[in-house]
Amino acid sequence: MNTTFDAIVIGSGISGGWAAKVLCEQGLKTCIVERGRNVEHNKDYPTAHLHPWELPHAGWMPKAFRDENPLITKAAGFGEDTAHFFIKDKEQPYVQKKSFDWIRGFQVGGKSLTWGRACQRWSQSEFESPFKYNYGIQWPVDYAEMAPWYHLVEDFIGVCGNKDGLESMPDGEFLPPFEMNCVEQHMSTALADRYPDRHLVHGRWAHLTEPKEHHLELGRGKCQARNLCMRGCPFGAYFSSNSSTIPSAQRTGNLSILSDAVVVKIIYDDQQKKATGIEYIDTATGSRQVIKASIIFVNASALNSNLILLNSTSDRFPNGLGNDHDILGRYVGFHNYRGYASG
Ligand SMILES: Cc1cc2nc3c(=O)[nH]c(=O)nc-3n(C[C@H](O)[C@H](O)[C@H](O)COP(=O)(O)OP(=O)(O)OC[C@H]3O[C@@H](n4cnc5c(N)ncnc54)[C@H](O)[C@@H]3O)c2cc1C
Repeated sequence: MNTTFDAIVIGSGISGGWAAKVLCEQGLKTCIVERGRNVEHNKDYPTAHLHPWELPHAGWMPKAFRDENPLITKAAGFGEDTAHFFIKDKEQPYVQKKSFDWIRGFQVGGKSLTWGRACQRWSQSEFESPFKYNYGIQWPVDYAEMAPWYHLVEDFIGVCGNKDGLESMPDGEFLPPFEMNCVEQHMSTALADRYPDRHLVHGRWAHLTEPKEHHLELGRGKCQARNLCMRGCPFGAYFSSNSSTIPSAQRTGNLSILSDAVVVKIIYDDQQKKATGIEYIDTATGSRQVIKASIIFVNASALNSNLILLNSTSDRFPNGLGNDHDILGRYVGFHNYRGYASG
């Protein structure tokens, strides 16, 4: 294959898929470099059509597996039917000094295959609060600046929800919501009657309840409400890189995908004062290879992106690429998984 591209995108999860789509649509020959195996939409969803009785343990992981892999066993949606899209603790262990569940999906599509699909917009208060209440710094962007981008993403990926007119949960470009069941409906009305300032509303979800023409064109269809999403959806009804951004990039003719290729570092040329390419390990042969491009997007998810940059040392950047302030690898904002507050 070619070893020189206009752009390299490291990682093919939610952000990598988007980067590749946008770069390809701008006419740039783009190569996604992905450490995991290739997962083609539909073809590589081996459990998508299985009934519980067709799975060896009806979908549950046996005790021996759970004992050996306690962390990943806790992940939402992890089970016998979805295990092939998650990294197992035993296979790729890590040290937990403080409790930290690192949920990884190393494959083409990354965690876009197994995410929960909840798609709330941030409100202005989310951008303001860290500074206003003195627990963080001023965001460099605000809601008004982000709103058109939310719009663009929601329209492409397809997000369903109700327009509730709440400042704390801004409305977007929504497809129709799923219907509330009678209990939810009753609860919502009863709350509204008694506490006008409290709301029980629909979450917003990246599911096609009523696909638009551009969704259908990509081969995506209406959500069948099977609740088997994390196996990979044969209808392409929830957003994943595999069903949406990657096919969209592919149809430009500008996309190459290099899977089974663990990026080790970004190559920085001290003379040119530029990043010029990447070095990766071919997981089939163990050999180290180089490919080049003048644009490199790092989308390997929070921890691995830091890791790659820290590994990318040069005379100019002895502590890692762009790490003059020694910030890389610290203060990493990972998914606030099942974090909650109550009162
Ligand atoms: C169970 C679960 C439920 C979630 N639910 C929601 C939700 O409801 N709503 C929401 O907004 N978010 C949710 N998330 C979070 C969401 O999935 C992540 O925020 C999102 O996937 C991050 O996108 P990303 O592109 O940064 O990383 P990922 O999607 O993880 O993709 C990173 C990619 O980079 C690849 N990679 C890593 N290292 C290298 C390397 N060295 N070389 C080459 N490739 C590499 C990986 O294999 C992977 O494919 C959920 C996550 C989990 C685990």
